Amino acid sequence: MRKAVFPGSFDPITLGHVDIISRSLPLFDEIIIAIGINAKKKYMFSIEERKRFIQNAFFAEQKITVETYTGLTVDYCKSINADFILRGLRNPADFDFEKAIAQTNRKLSGIETVFLLTSAETSYISSSIVRDIVKNNGDASSLVPKTVAEYFNKE
Ligand code: ADP
Repeated sequence: MRKAVFPGSFDPITLGHVDIISRSLPLFDEIIIAIGINAKKKYMFSIEERKRFIQNAFFAEQKITVETYTGLTVDYCKSINADFILRGLRNPADFDFEKAIAQTNRKLSGIETVFLLTSAETSYISSSIVRDIVKNNGDASSLVPKTVAEYFNKE
């Protein structure tokens, strides 16, 4: 049973995340999209909103569940018997950041991080750009799943 955790803030989920998650489906039997809660971090969307956005985007997908966690990602993985962490890479800055974390996580726990390279069509998308657009009343609907875009339009 190949169980992977895809950890992140998902503030909000974007088509970049969707791309990575969709392409990882053939690799794993179960994928837990895990929203990390950091009390010190300011988020634009509440934990309930972020969870609902992800659930709506993948409601028909049996392999996917959405959870929240606090503390170290490796501790969370161990608590649910997940052997893999899934992450996406967009650019050299992502690589530098992710390399140290993945190596540390493997040292601490033996858990392997599996990286998928971003697709050309979604490599420029980030949650922070989406938040900027939304904050300034712009139209971010081409960067997020349809259900999230509908939610933005209702606000
Ligand atoms: P975090 O705060 O942990 O970086 P994010 O929600 O920003 O959380 O990102 C979660 C994961 O999704 C990270 O591995 C990030 O590199 C990946 N990701 C975000 N946007 C994209 C994208 N456009 N293409 C590929 N991977 C992405």
